[in-house]
Amino acid sequence: MSKNSNIDVREIFALNVFNERVMKERLPKATYKALRQTIEKGALMTGDVANVVANTMKDWAIEKGATHYTHWFQPLTGKTAEKHDAFISPTKDGGIIMEFSGNELIKGEPDASSFPSGGLRATFEARGYTAWDCTSPAFLKEDGVGNVTLVIPTAFCSYTGVALDKKTPLLRSIESVSKQALRVLRAIGNHHSQKVHATVGPEQEYFLIDKKYFDQRLDLQTCGRTLFGSPAPKGQEMEDQYFGSIKDRVSTFMKDSEVELWKMGVLSKTKHNEVAPSQFETAPIFSTANIATDHNQLVMETLQKVALRHGLVCLLHEKPYAGINGSGKHNNWSLATDDGINLLEPGHTPEQNEVFLLCLSALLTAVDKHADMLRASTAVPGNDHRLGANEAPPAIISVFMGTALTSILESLGKGKKPKASTALSLRIGVDTLPDLPKDNTDRNRTSPFAFTGNKFEFRMVPSSASISGPNVVLNTIVSESLDEIATRLEKAKDKNKEAEAIIKEAVNKHGRIIFDGNNYSEEWKKEAAKRGLPNVRNMVDALDAFVTPKAYALFAKYNVLNHEEVHSRHEIYLEQYAKTINIEAQAGISMVRKQYIPTVISYTADLAETINKLNQAEASVSVQEEILTKVSGLLEDAMEKLTKLEKATDKAQKVSDAKKKAIAYRDEVLVALTELRVEIDALEELMPADKWPVPTYAQMLLNL
Ligand code: ADP
Ligand code: MG
Repeated sequence: MSKNSNIDVREIFALNVFNERVMKERLPKATYKALRQTIEKGALMTGDVANVVANTMKDWAIEKGATHYTHWFQPLTGKTAEKHDAFISPTKDGGIIMEFSGNELIKGEPDASSFPSGGLRATFEARGYTAWDCTSPAFLKEDGVGNVTLVIPTAFCSYTGVALDKKTPLLRSIESVSKQALRVLRAIGNHHSQKVHATVGPEQEYFLIDKKYFDQRLDLQTCGRTLFGSPAPKGQEMEDQYFGSIKDRVSTFMKDSEVELWKMGVLSKTKHNEVAPSQFETAPIFSTANIATDHNQLVMETLQKVALRHGLVCLLHEKPYAGINGSGKHNNWSLATDDGINLLEPGHTPEQNEVFLLCLSALLTAVDKHADMLRASTAVPGNDHRLGANEAPPAIISVFMGTALTSILESLGKGKKPKASTALSLRIGVDTLPDLPKDNTDRNRTSPFAFTGNKFEFRMVPSSASISGPNVVLNTIVSESLDEIATRLEKAKDKNKEAEAIIKEAVNKHGRIIFDGNNYSEEWKKEAAKRGLPNVRNMVDALDAFVTPKAYALFAKYNVLNHEEVHSRHEIYLEQYAKTINIEAQAGISMVRKQYIPTVISYTADLAETINKLNQAEASVSVQEEILTKVSGLLEDAMEKLTKLEKATDKAQKVSDAKKKAIAYRDEVLVALTELRVEIDALEELMPADKWPVPTYAQMLLNL
């Protein structure tokens, strides 16, 4: 029986988190109060308070076996970074004491020169700063061999204060949307809520593969996806994977990862088999956008680490295998007040329903005006294989509202009182505002941006990347529309009338973004084009949306990213695209030159020898000759395409302008690589299984 079967989750949950409970228990009252002020209101922290907190944190960590601490940050690689320092400090008599000062807690100075900066800092000024983010609790990370480290979530910036990471803009965008949402609440008479939080619950999809197969595939090891491979006889067509019973091996892995995550305070809740064979999903209970983002990084890291302990590898790539479902993250997003009101939930009071409709209007407006930025926020190389590939959402952004809400919004747009809904409905005091369906169970799995009853689910988000980017954009674009709504309401004499006008206007101006039908259909592509909705199919083009005057102005207005920060990010992401495709090309070239072609050559030699022998024996050679002809033909074509890929890669490597380089990789290198796959996959189908040099799709997908 597995060691985990007797676990009481209550005993291990947040065992390794320096959370509210620990702080209250261990910190002197005055220090605790001061720290709360900093966490809730951003009040400046005195050196004394920092010293006491640091010392308490250190004692707590050491009691639990920690020897080191690390400032944990999220550079623009989208991964997390950590540099470990032991708590030790020398004493005069040649010994050591365990020390951790307020300064060490608050600020770190990692060498930043090896992280992407998009030309933000000259290399001689490579100093970066990490600054403690006390709104995400510090925690202990245990590795598989028993090392324990105190992890301090931090923001990462240059010495001039320019953001070099994914956390800084996220924190800024959270503050911005919080402020604007509170203004709207105040304007319509809510004086009890003190704060609004963006809430996020990310569902994480991933694949598992037996490590023995992974180790034999250079493409998986270097790119995270298979560059070659003909389909397995059985994919997902039987629809028997989704929610299917979980195999013991996978279940043991899942439980082990959950235990690790629970200890670090991650509210890991749901797990199930996904659509494709060997594909799974895990989701936590939602939390604030900042903590959800930190926790999602931990989820990705933990899945990968724990998988190895089970002889498995966790693939986070958006499209590890061609022809079957890819992986994404469903980013569930809402706004909630500190006193427990979900602003996207139709409520019990007229006031709540008014807020709900106003927030819905804000969302519609924001998503329509800035669909291009939302799309850009999901751009990673892997997502190009997924968006619009008849499984994931398309690259066209639209909003699903469900029949009941859509019909209510349509009526409001016409200035009419909507018909009472047949669904369970709520009264709303204001005359012209409607009864709202409380439980909008209507579901549409094909929509990229779906209202799911009390939150929006953004489904374009890539599985491998940080969820920071999409949430930064969401928070910022919604800030703008809430800002506009608040300004109108603050000025209006009759607030209810103004609210009605705002909702009506949003529906009429931005209703084109609503689409409740099948987003995978060809008709929708045509209809979307008619409505003027953008359909951007690749990362390089999508990224343009970040460097428009509109985007620069928006990010600057809400203090999320300044011009320099936006510009550098654009540059970095283009570079990342080019580097990714370059690695794919190198891996592809190597596999074809060193594995596939030699294998095929020796097979053709064997065949020729057989044919000679058969000829001598005067036996029939027709089958052998037919195969030899086919295989040789494919080999020749493969060789020709390989040369083309090598040339294209050489050429792209020499381009220096970031945009032009990315385009060369997209239009020439990636195209050549994709074309080369055709012959290799055809050869795989013709060759004897025992001669094929790498594991097949069937082996990788059906052998967990
Ligand atoms: P689905 O049917 O889409 O899988 P779930 O009930 O599993 O829906 O929820 C998906 C995610 O949405 C979970 O992480 C959940 O905690 C999160 N979620 C629920 N309510 C909210 C909210 N108000 N804000 C943000 N996320 C939420
Ligand atoms: Mg979902």
